[in-house]
Amino acid sequence: MSDDPTIFEQIVSGEIPGRIVYETDTVAAFLDANPLAPGHTLVVPKEPYERLDDLPDDIAADVWAAVQSLTPRIESVVDADATTVGVNNGPAAGQEVPHVHVHIVPRFEGDGGGP
Ligand code: 5GP
Repeated sequence: MSDDPTIFEQIVSGEIPGRIVYETDTVAAFLDANPLAPGHTLVVPKEPYERLDDLPDDIAADVWAAVQSLTPRIESVVDADATTVGVNNGPAAGQEVPHVHVHIVPRFEGDGGGP
């Protein structure tokens, strides 16, 4: 972990604005600033682990529990038909922020997107 707080730590701490939609002691979720679809949400561990394999098992379980809990709720809020859930795990995969984040992207019949 670097000493400088990541942008996501700053959102979680309230240092910079972010639309937080879910929070526990260990996990937070907020809306993506550049959404691929309405309701595009990022789920993060509050601690700035950089890569998936850096996550302790209990935190990984907390992150996944949040993802499972949030996907149907997000679908309902934006009236989506499905969600794409994904992690860019490392810079070569497109990870821009060095703090694990799970994308939940609402999907709509015929939207033509997807990995
Ligand atoms: P990555 O490419 O690392 O998987 O995804 C980073 C995501 O973070 C992008 O979807 C980008 O829009 C989002 N993002 C970057 N900076 C901010 C920010 O300051 N606030 C929020 N809410 N999202 C951000």
